[in-house]
Parts: sequence; C-alpha cells; structure tokens
Amino acid sequence: MSDKVLLYYDEAMLGHNPTGWDPAHPEWTAAVQALLRAQYGSEEEAARRWVHPERPTRLSVVRDALLEATATNAEWRHPRPAGPVELGRVHSQEHITLIEALAGRACWLDRDTTAVSPESVQAAKLAAGSGVTALEAIAAGDARRAFCCVRPPGHHALAERAMGFCLYNNVAVTAAHAQAALGMERVLIIDWDLHHGNGTQDIFYPINDVLLCDTHCSAPFYPGTGQIEQTGTGAGTNRTLNVPLPVGSGNTALIAAFEQLFVLAALVFEPRVILVSAGFDCHYLDRTFTMDATGFRHLTRIVMDLADRLCDGRLVLMMEGGYNAESLAGCARACVETLAGGPLPGLVRQDDDPGLAAVADAVAYHAPRLAPKPT
Ligand SMILES: [Zn+2]
Repeated sequence: MSDKVLLYYDEAMLGHNPTGWDPAHPEWTAAVQALLRAQYGSEEEAARRWVHPERPTRLSVVRDALLEATATNAEWRHPRPAGPVELGRVHSQEHITLIEALAGRACWLDRDTTAVSPESVQAAKLAAGSGVTALEAIAAGDARRAFCCVRPPGHHALAERAMGFCLYNNVAVTAAHAQAALGMERVLIIDWDLHHGNGTQDIFYPINDVLLCDTHCSAPFYPGTGQIEQTGTGAGTNRTLNVPLPVGSGNTALIAAFEQLFVLAALVFEPRVILVSAGFDCHYLDRTFTMDATGFRHLTRIVMDLADRLCDGRLVLMMEGGYNAESLAGCARACVETLAGGPLPGLVRQDDDPGLAAVADAVAYHAPRLAPKPT
C-alpha cells in the first residue's frame, strides 16, 4: 500500500496574529501584565520581550521543515474552511455567532490570553476545515494518511467557549464529520499534547462511538482536568481514557501508555478512523516533559500500525500545541517522515522515567473497564 502523505496548509492561517491588549477588559490586561512583570522584571522589559506564544512562526517553521523534508511521497493541499454545518455539529450556534462576529477585530476572549486579530476567524475555520478536507480525500481513496499543519489549535475549545488559544475544536469537528458525512461510525481520538484535551473530552463525554485516549501533564497543570477517574458519562462511560503524568515524563512513559493501554483499547473498540491531536509541547525544549523527536517517531509508528490493522490505514494527525520553534519543526518533520514510510531510528529511552508509575496506575485503572465497540 502507498505511503503517500497528504499535507494540509494554507498561508491564511499565518494571519492569526494576536497582539496588544483588549481595552474593553482592563482587568485582564492588568492581571497578565502583572504576570509578565514578574517574569521579566519590569513593565518596559515585559513589553519589549513578550510575544504571544501562539504566534505565526509556529506554523511557518513547520511548513519550511516539511518543504525541506518531503520532496517525494508527500502532496501539499489546501484545506477548505469549515462551514456552519460542520462547526455546528460540535459547537453551539451562540458560540459560532460570537466567533464569526470577531472577524476583522482584535480583542481577547479570556484572561488566559486566548485572543484574536482581524484574520483569526478565517484561520480558525481553515484549521477546523483541514481535518474535514483531509478525511474527505482519504475517504475518496487519494491517500491513507494526512498531516494537518494548522493553527489556531483546537483541543481546549468547548462547545460553547473559546479557551487556551483555541477558537474551534478542530479534531472534534473532524471526528463529527467522519461520523455524520463519511460513514466512519467509530472514531478513535488520541491526544498526545502536553495539555489535557479538555474541550475534546467535554464534547464527547456522553458519546459512545468516540473513544478519547489522552496523555497529559497532571492537574493542576493547565487546564486542570484529565483526572484518571474522568471516564465519560451515560453511554460515553469508559470512552474517555486519561493518563495523567508527572512533570519530567518522557519517551518511555508515553510509549508505555500507548503500548500498554491505548493499543488494547483500540483493538476492542475497532475504530473506522484514527485522529491524533498532535501537539509537540511534550518535547524537552518546552521544559515540562522530556520527550524528543525519536519518541514522536515511535508514537507515530504505533498509531500507523493500529490504523493499518484496524481501519485500512485511515489516519489524520492535526497540530495542537508546541511553543518552541526548533522542536516544533523537528517533531513535525519526524512525524511526517514516519507517516511517509521512513525508517524508525532507535528510541532514546529513560529507564527511570518518572511517568512510568503513573502509567502503571492508569493501566490498572482502565484495563478492566475497556468496553467493546458499540453494537
Ligand atoms: Zn499543549
């Protein structure tokens, strides 16, 4: 089978460039400026050095790294923006109306620095539409795998609220499209971003035919959710598998969580497609976890093997977080090279990985509860 990879990118996603302060919320401005003063020592130094972490460079460095790496076996495509029907499957009409009304404006939506610039709304619709467009191409048989170079990220966005730099929940919009429009009735979402995918969890919490497997840094780390006991509600019970990990966790713990839990969960769930919230902020350059590019290659290979085994290879990776330009570029390149059938270099292991005990706890908790696919 072909190892062709579809790469989704549109320059308009660089137009999302939140800067400045929101004059309508002086209390948010004051709170964030106080944090920055504490970080940089003085107001002047903070003003000089602070840039919004979710900045256009995050995407341009990934684009450049992939252009360099993938002369063959990869095909660049433009996404179409997600439309109201696609967004409306996971977001309330009120939320969509609120976001749409921000087109052409610059303001903050929350004191957590979720913010927009005049072109952000179009960027957000292209980010959500990337997964939708990629899945349609995969359903049409153009390829089996896709990597979506997108921003703003999506996995913190709730049905009714923007949060954590996320306006629309890109991976949730994609999952809902798979089910509603493409006949892929069971969707596995794997979220390996450093932060818990609280928005994705919340949207699918009562849903039986979406399985969410999420590794992340434990609360109280942002956003403070993702406890092991949060497993879903009603028909969605045991369809959310959280693996919270301590600061310092790395390749060995993440891979153990995948091999010892997520693979087993996928085998009994039998997804028709696998979507990955592929943040790269577990990299050691983001200073909380200690993963490196070899770890991301191995995680990618694990999900590729699962997709090949369970759902004819259908697999879409969508960028989420990752705030160091060097590690973002290197890890995105590592993932795409792996998706394209590249070699799997040796894994940098850490036998005393501080996350291993937490993985063992999560496996012990979740393994007896794994539920077969819905009938
Ligand atoms: Zn993140």
